[in-house]
Amino acid sequence: MNGATELGPEVKEALQRHFGFREFLEGQEEIVRAVLAGRDVLGVMPTGAGKSLCYQLPALLRDGVTFVVSPLIALMKDQVDALAARGVAATMINSSLPAAAQRERLHGLRHGVYRVIYIAPERMRSQAFLEALQGIPVSLVAVDEAHCLSQWGHDFRPDYMRLGKLIAQVGRPQVIALTATATPEVRLDIVKTLELRDPFVCVSGFARPNLSLRVTQVGGQEDKFRRLGEAVRKHGAGIVYCATRKHVDEVTEVLRDQLETPVVAYHAGLSAEQRDRAQEAFVGRKCPVAVATNAFGMGIDRPDVRFVLHFDVPGSLEAYYQEAGRAGRDGEPAVCELLFNFADTRTQEFFIDCNNPSPETVRSVYQGVRRLAGDQGEVRLPLADLAQRIGIDHGMALSACLTLLGRAGYIGRFDIPGERMRGTRVLRPEIEASALDLDWEGMREKERRDREKLRTLVNYCYSTNCRQRDILIYFGEPQPALCESCDVCSERGGQVREGSDEERLILCKALSGLARMSQRTAGGWKGRYGRGRIIQMLLGSRSQEVLNNRLDTLSTYGILRGMGEAYLFALFEELKRAGCVEVERVGDYPLLKLTERGERVMRGEESCSLRWPERSRMPKTPAHKAKEDGEESRDAPDAELLERLKRCRAEAAARAGLPLYGVFSNRTLEELAVHRPSTVEEALEIHGIGPHKAERFVMGFLEVIRSYDEESPGG
Ligand code: ADP
Ligand code: MG
Repeated sequence: MNGATELGPEVKEALQRHFGFREFLEGQEEIVRAVLAGRDVLGVMPTGAGKSLCYQLPALLRDGVTFVVSPLIALMKDQVDALAARGVAATMINSSLPAAAQRERLHGLRHGVYRVIYIAPERMRSQAFLEALQGIPVSLVAVDEAHCLSQWGHDFRPDYMRLGKLIAQVGRPQVIALTATATPEVRLDIVKTLELRDPFVCVSGFARPNLSLRVTQVGGQEDKFRRLGEAVRKHGAGIVYCATRKHVDEVTEVLRDQLETPVVAYHAGLSAEQRDRAQEAFVGRKCPVAVATNAFGMGIDRPDVRFVLHFDVPGSLEAYYQEAGRAGRDGEPAVCELLFNFADTRTQEFFIDCNNPSPETVRSVYQGVRRLAGDQGEVRLPLADLAQRIGIDHGMALSACLTLLGRAGYIGRFDIPGERMRGTRVLRPEIEASALDLDWEGMREKERRDREKLRTLVNYCYSTNCRQRDILIYFGEPQPALCESCDVCSERGGQVREGSDEERLILCKALSGLARMSQRTAGGWKGRYGRGRIIQMLLGSRSQEVLNNRLDTLSTYGILRGMGEAYLFALFEELKRAGCVEVERVGDYPLLKLTERGERVMRGEESCSLRWPERSRMPKTPAHKAKEDGEESRDAPDAELLERLKRCRAEAAARAGLPLYGVFSNRTLEELAVHRPSTVEEALEIHGIGPHKAERFVMGFLEVIRSYDEESPGG
């Protein structure tokens, strides 16, 4: 059983008929195929990528009922109505529904009246409800927003812990889990908690080729302020993230007073009105730069952010990518720079200490609150005062303790009308501090994970691999391409040259595509689309924007299919430098257009020297291609080749007097067998091969690969 079965024509037909879509979006087809082949699935795709369709479409194509669990009750009704409008018998059950109506819907489910039913997570608290599901012919359980079951994630919903029960109750049918949270630990938690069986895992859509990611090693504050000044002068609108409120204030001051840049500050210490005003000024384009802590983020809807600068090291790679990802939402080039100074990780260590208080600290906070609450059973003090009265150094640590105690039901927090502070109520005053029963084990685990995340981020900062690729590998995307635009890729750079015949053909196609998407006027060319859209068209993308604008009907649609988004981004960037294309701002939109020179180059009347971007590492031989088409074998190294590489390693290790792993790890060998590099440069892309090892060992392995490829052409 695998996900590789071809889709029958009825699938596309149903897509068209029920949803009105002509094509799948990226990732959808693979997932639908795996679901229809009967596999459990974990789909990880960003918000807006079209995850719902991955279970809604299969639900229509097979017998039995599909259960959908989703935490957003408010959105359920919309989903059900949308399905109903498409002629799909769908309904929902939540606690607000009268008992009689629930019974009626369950009855309908048993008798084939409904194909899809949305179940609110809180229903799983009721044993009676779970028992009433007996006998319903469930063929698929879809768990949407599946990260909610991860205790360590940002959006834990305890009700999701009961999903296992629900699934068991209906006879353990096939399960599909979907989320936009792409961290390895959350993925693992989902697979474990839902007990997914040999799931087909699809992670896609996280690459952001228009972002140029960079890490700058800085010495100290002065260095940082210098980089800050450069970024602001060069890039225009942007966000500067700082780790602390103090830094927000300092940076704000420097920008305002020394660099004369209009700037807003944003952090959790400001009042709600102040924050609203700051956000409004930034999003409304009255102010080009926002300086903020990580409290600034949700709901920033400003697409033309040209740079995100991290003034301090953030706490994790996922936090970093989420914040950096606020740049360039319009699809146009943007720069994300992280100022890295190892000493700054102390601040993050400190946050980890505060957020993970020891059992003793939790107990003494509880004891203190209990004492201060006295007979009234409640305390009304600002956090800082409360901390002082209890004898805790830092409000952040106190806050973490209160959250833990609140979650475990020992205290409750309540708003006080007209006050900015919240009150604290002791809920079980009879319990002594020594008798507190918290998940101490889980707390230790969380601390371990927090430290691990910080380590991952530090490794990222020191890495000499393509930044985008490092992040996507961490998120679990299979074999992401080099981005060609991060600091590492750019430094590797290339020389300016005329280009091979093949490269010149690519150039010609790219310019023709641009011409089709521009407008010829008496005064020259006018742009109509941004670079992102043009590249999507050239690649034959089936994204909504392309389909909505009917770009798939152009004769140049898909003529550079397979070239890779990153390559074309880099190519257009070069063409801009070479004066073949130009960006023209219309309102807020940067539109790309051909220049006179570009037109002559397109017609072959003029030559053009460029710093050609590197092509994707592995040229696709038919053998590689065939491999990729079979889902299963995509990442699987060739066993025979792997054997030979292992023999080569044994010999090298013996010669050098090293243990096997002192030469290369198993993972490195596996990657060598999968990617089959042919040059030392290509080999340097592989995990575990740095310049030192490459120089010392890699030639022998390349030889093994070369002779293996020659022996088995196309196989
Ligand atoms: P997600 O759950 O991943 O955030 P949704 O399932 O809510 O995304 O879908 C986002 C949008 O994409 C919806 O408006 C949906 O109608 C649209 N969409 C989904 N699949 C397709 C498709 N194949 N073609 C065009 N639009 C699609
Ligand atoms: Mg969704």
